[in-house]
Amino acid sequence: MSETRVRFAPSPTGQIHIGNIRTALFNWLYAKKEEGTFILRIEDTDQKRSTAEFEEVIKQEMEWLGLDWDEGVQAGGELGPYRQSERIDIYEEYAEKLLAKDLAYYCYCTPEELDEMRKQARENDQAPKYDGRCRDLSAVEREKLEAEGKEAVLRFKLPKSEKKIVVEDLVHGNVEFSSEVLDDFVIVKSDGIPTYNFAVVVDDHLMEISHVIRGEDHLSNTPKQMLLFEALDFEVPNFAHLPMILGADRSKLSKRSGEDYVYISEYRKQGYLPEAMLNFLSLLGWSPADEEEILSIEEIIGQFGLQEVNNSPAVFDVEKLNWLNGNYIREAKLDRIVELATPYLREAGYIEEELTEQEYADLEQIVDTVRGSLDYVAQITEHVDIFFNELEYEDVDKAEEIFKQEDVDLVLETLKDSLDTLEDYSSEAVLEELRAVLKELPVGGRLFYHPVRYALSGQDSGPELYNIISILGKEETLRRLDKALSLI
Ligand code: GLU
Ligand code: ZN
Repeated sequence: MSETRVRFAPSPTGQIHIGNIRTALFNWLYAKKEEGTFILRIEDTDQKRSTAEFEEVIKQEMEWLGLDWDEGVQAGGELGPYRQSERIDIYEEYAEKLLAKDLAYYCYCTPEELDEMRKQARENDQAPKYDGRCRDLSAVEREKLEAEGKEAVLRFKLPKSEKKIVVEDLVHGNVEFSSEVLDDFVIVKSDGIPTYNFAVVVDDHLMEISHVIRGEDHLSNTPKQMLLFEALDFEVPNFAHLPMILGADRSKLSKRSGEDYVYISEYRKQGYLPEAMLNFLSLLGWSPADEEEILSIEEIIGQFGLQEVNNSPAVFDVEKLNWLNGNYIREAKLDRIVELATPYLREAGYIEEELTEQEYADLEQIVDTVRGSLDYVAQITEHVDIFFNELEYEDVDKAEEIFKQEDVDLVLETLKDSLDTLEDYSSEAVLEELRAVLKELPVGGRLFYHPVRYALSGQDSGPELYNIISILGKEETLRRLDKALSLI
């Protein structure tokens, strides 16, 4: 098996958690790096919880991030079908093989009997394991149970004597398990549907997966899967279990661990850029060789390797994500950010469905002016009020205090006069004009910029003053200066 073949195998039972999309990304990165094949397999054997809508969600989020797959649902391929619900007869065939080899057996125990068994085990301070009571049923006994209409599950027959199982994990090194901690686990349920551990082994083999890359939460399943690989005479693939992702409070990342958002869709909806998300997700458990953390996807692929994946948990640091995303927002093409910002501004009632050319030009200028303050695009609605709404001082006493400082009346009057005669309201021209006016005045920068900013925006800080004036235009700028002067 020389070709690298990896898969992302999500269950379509809900939104994609950050941890799962990180798994998708690391598989994709590894396939890119090794020029291998990336497969999307849908694990929908939980028929009650799996839906076609959630499968769509998975595909859409992957497409949004640019995680394209070479084989799988939608893409097709030689080794499909790639949806487990369409492979039931395949699993049946392999279940038959195990039965024929006497490595599996039918178990007729009822849920009540199993409950009782677990209860007994607990009372005796033992691990709640299946005790193997159906393992050696005779054909006659089985027939009798079948005749009674009892339903059966198929269980895997663990080796009789203790066996050491060593998972040679590419991230964690050799991890040893004893077969003693396992029991004769179920491989096919009474309705004929395979369990996760069984289906995954059959599929990983038939789809010729070379590297199983998945979350650490599956490490405890791996010994079971290794036993099944061996029982079926399948070659065991390489394993790489990715470190857990912890939330701010160092518990497993979840709504409860302090993060507001744990699904990739939530970040998309807030206006995080896909390239920022990819950059951030790639750092959850992997570190580039040098310090630089802002990396293009090509740079990440170039440096990526499973050997470099950390075996200690990764901490989801939303501030770092915001910092990264802010960088990408500032660097992105302006029209892209305008397009992303438009729905939020519409929703908040700042702009209409249809914009005139002038309105669009103003919008571009506004977005360009405030994008430096954004962690994610949805925040834009908190920064544009000064451009769209009638200016109201939140604290009139404070405004008066600022404007009544010595010489501020002169500042505002002089500025008003000169802006009144100014014709070119481009940012550059306004900047030049501001500098010229300040030079003429008997005050320093402190008594100039702050009062003027407050007069024009009602805020102590914000976008560059010349940008504000340029966007407001002459009429509105003069009106606001007048308003401030009327308080003196
Ligand atoms: N369907 C499993 C999950 O979503 C896949 C685990 C695996 O990659 O083996 O967790
Ligand atoms: Zn049984």
